[in-house]
This record gives sequence, C-alpha cells and structure tokens, in this order.
Amino acid sequence: MNSRRKFIKNLTAVGATVPLVTNIQAKPKKNKGPVILCSRGEVWGEKVLRPGWDILSKNGKLLDAIEKSSNVTELDPEDTSVGYGGLPNEHGVVQLDASIMYGPTHNCGSVAALEGIKTPCSVARLVMERTDHIHIVGKGAQNFAKLHGFKVENLLTDKARKIWLSWKENLSSKDDWFPPADNNYDDNRTTGTINVLGIDADSNVAGITTTSGLAYKIPGRIGDSPIIGAGLYVDNEVGAAGATGRGEEILRTCGSFFVVEQMRNGKSPQEACEALCQRIIDINGGTKNINFNDKIVALGKDGSVGCASIKERKGNNPKLAYWSNDGFKVYKGTYLIEDKSVDYVG
Ligand code: ASP
Repeated sequence: MNSRRKFIKNLTAVGATVPLVTNIQAKPKKNKGPVILCSRGEVWGEKVLRPGWDILSKNGKLLDAIEKSSNVTELDPEDTSVGYGGLPNEHGVVQLDASIMYGPTHNCGSVAALEGIKTPCSVARLVMERTDHIHIVGKGAQNFAKLHGFKVENLLTDKARKIWLSWKENLSSKDDWFPPADNNYDDNRTTGTINVLGIDADSNVAGITTTSGLAYKIPGRIGDSPIIGAGLYVDNEVGAAGATGRGEEILRTCGSFFVVEQMRNGKSPQEACEALCQRIIDINGGTKNINFNDKIVALGKDGSVGCASIKERKGNNPKLAYWSNDGFKVYKGTYLIEDKSVDYVG
C-alpha cells in the first residue's frame, strides 16, 4: 500500500530512550521470584500491575494476582479497548472477550461476545474453576455470570458512545464488510487488549487476555483473545504468551501457542515473539501486504520477557511493563516493519 514500509530486522537499539526502559534481553536464568507482566508501557503498566504485585509479593495466589491486575483496565471507563467503556460493535453494543489459563493444571476458561458484565476475565476464571467447559459465549455466558452473582450493567459509556456515533454518522468505510473480490482491511482500525502474565514464587505460570475486541465489529464476531492458543497460551514448563492487535491474524497462526512452542524449542521470549511477527508477514506474502498490526508479549519460566510487534506505533517501539523483586520496569520490544502512520493501541 505504501512505499514507506521498510522491512528491518532488529530495531532494539532504535528509538528514543525512555526513562525506566530496559531492552537487555535476559538469557535463561533462575527465576528470581514472582514476576507479573502486562502488555502496556509506562502509561498503564504501573496502575495495572500494582494490585497484582501486592498479592504476589505477599505470597498470595497467582490467579488472584493476574485477575486483580486485569480488572484494573476492565473497570476503567477511560480505556476504550477493554471491559467497561470498551468501544462497541457496529450496532453500538459492547461485546467482551476474555480468557485465562493456569499452568500447573493446564486448565483454561473463556467467555466471548459477553454483554453487560464489566469484568469478563473474572467470568472466564469461573468457567475454568467451576465448570468442565472451556468456552461459554453470548447469552449463555451472561446467564452463567448472573448465576454467579455478577450484575448486568450498561457497559457503553458516554465517551465510547460518542466515538461510535461519529463512526456511524460519518458512514465510515472502516468496517468489516467486503464487497465481492475486495479484500481491503484498513490500517488504523481502533483496537486494543490487555495481556497479563505471571509467575509465582513456586515458578507456576498463568495468564489472562481481556478485550472489547475490534471496534465496530460485526455483532457476534469473536477475535483471538478468548481462544486458547491464539490470544493466550500458558505452559508451566516453558512460560506464557499473549497477543493484541488484529485477532484474525493471531487466530490463523495459533499465535500464542506458536510463541510458547518456539520458546520450548530454545528461543528466548524476545526471539519467539519476533518469530511470530515474521510468520504473520510471511503468510501474508511479505511486508507490502501488511495493512494491520499485531503485538505479542511473552514471559519465560525463568522470568525473562519478550515483546515484538509487526509495525511500530507512531514511531515507537512496542512495550510491556513488569514487576519483580527488582521493582517496576518497562521493557522496550522490537518491531519488524517501519510505518509511522500506524496509531495502534496496545
Ligand atoms: N485482538 C483483539 C481482537 O482482535 C483486538 C485487539 O487486541 O486490538 O479482538
């Protein structure tokens, strides 16, 4: 689509230096104790991770820690990409997707197209812990949540409603309907998700992915976030990975599973994240065909972290934040395609 796109191999060293940012790729080392990570940088990182770190550092339960951290964005009406306040589907209805996976048991749970419940990851956790199912969607997921005492509320904030209304009033061509023989997904579609991954003091690994999904999606559309192996995967022997961005690409590469398996085969979390971005570029026939973005974060069982995106975001490297016994840190990842026009949330 444009000639400014340039494939570049490893941009770890490129970009302005940001305080607190580290990009030293950790070599496999002993787990220094609990670690909790989220797929956001300095803006959200600290407030998301603080409640989770409080739990983990006091030897609390790993699942409680990642749930409480994920709930921060879910409950915050200012974040228009996750939970309450998320941008709605094309009919103006907020439909949420979330998943959770726990390494020691390899159990998982997820909800999709869930309406009216502010904290979908907490419902996903109940699917994992209180049923023998993995996925519950739509009305069934809402009924299940109600039976567990969740309140059904209006999730469409004024802020999200106005953004949606302006999309609708302007008859935007940025939607998901293709006329015959025109396969033209648009860059800069509003997206966003949060992944929270953690390791406890006993080296057990777990993760959550939660999102309101692609803004203005066709009602009932489910992205990668609630699909185990796509938007989230955890293996207690290896580590965990989570994805944000264009879910369809993560789905058709089994993205998070791919990353964890690369780590199992010896790649560092950083190398594994880059390998997924490269795979997505390859299956699309090369950089010239990439009109979307994806970002992947990974946590090795030894506490090492990785983060890569297909494209940069407005000239910035993708980031994650993590909290360990060494304190709160922001990690700067790499991107594979230079494209300053992309304003990708993640
Ligand atoms: N991956 C999410 C989805 O496709 C959205 C996002 O992360 O931006 O539903």
